Amino acid sequence: MSTYVFGPVRSGRLGLSLGLDLLGARICSFDCLYCEVGPTDALTTAQKPYVPATRLLGELSGFAASGPPALDAVTLGGLGEPCLNTDMDRIIDGCRKILPGIPVAVLTNSSLLSDPAVRKRLVGADVVLPSMDTLVPEEFATINLPHRNVSLEAIRRGLLEFRTEFDGRMYLEILVLEGINDSEDNLARLLDFCRDVRPDRVDVVTMTRPGAWPQARPASSATLARFRESLGAVLTETTDGHGPAALRGRSADCPGRRDASEGIVSRVAASLGGRPQTIAQLSAALGLAEGDIRRAVETLVREKKIQAKAAFDDVFYFG
Ligand code: SF4
Repeated sequence: MSTYVFGPVRSGRLGLSLGLDLLGARICSFDCLYCEVGPTDALTTAQKPYVPATRLLGELSGFAASGPPALDAVTLGGLGEPCLNTDMDRIIDGCRKILPGIPVAVLTNSSLLSDPAVRKRLVGADVVLPSMDTLVPEEFATINLPHRNVSLEAIRRGLLEFRTEFDGRMYLEILVLEGINDSEDNLARLLDFCRDVRPDRVDVVTMTRPGAWPQARPASSATLARFRESLGAVLTETTDGHGPAALRGRSADCPGRRDASEGIVSRVAASLGGRPQTIAQLSAALGLAEGDIRRAVETLVREKKIQAKAAFDDVFYFG
């Protein structure tokens, strides 16, 4: 049983991606309103080998020896901010040796990119997916609830600096919440920023699952269209989730890897253990027909193993 290796799961940007959890707990430099894995337990900027490279790469070697399906990427993330892990560079190198030819991607909230040591540890990745939800300080404080050591201006400069040092692909992600960071002021600042940083693609997304805090509301389709049009953003699958924790919640195995005796019910239960999802989201994450998912969900509700909650004009199930 893997603790720090999960998936693979399919995402719009990375294809079939194996996830690595570099934190092992809810440790983050932000406590975002929309976080899909719940409130941050340890709000910190302290950098440590939270999950040591030897431990994580040992698990990855076991996965590689099990005859895994063809992967499109291995993605470093977790239940918080992966750049807090000081073994990041060793983990990137280890992934290349254990899974040769598979691109290494890193999800980050960008908060530590002002630190040259963090940028140096990250520069060996093939793809970096930094988040930047707003460049308006008041909006930043409201939506990302950062640790007191984190400065928005330092993040902005750190990302620009990283762009000059990094030869790989950069996919910038902007998550918009209604009434919080959907201002014209933010859009104008983001537009200037994108012109300077020149990411390979920009993804404008919103919440598709209940977030950590009840005041978070998804942006309307009109707001998303306004941001996407201005920023030239690429439309992504809305089931991808967001930020470093985006892949962690969808930890059910893909069909090529799962034990043949493992049923749909247990796969659905495992996936819902990570975060609340709708029938459609479960279907996309697990690659199963909605009818099969619905039957499994009904079984789990009957057995009182999961609960249902109405939100965003849909029904979310959670374990
Ligand atoms: S969304 Fe990402 S950056 Fe924000 S609190 Fe959750 S894990 Fe941290």
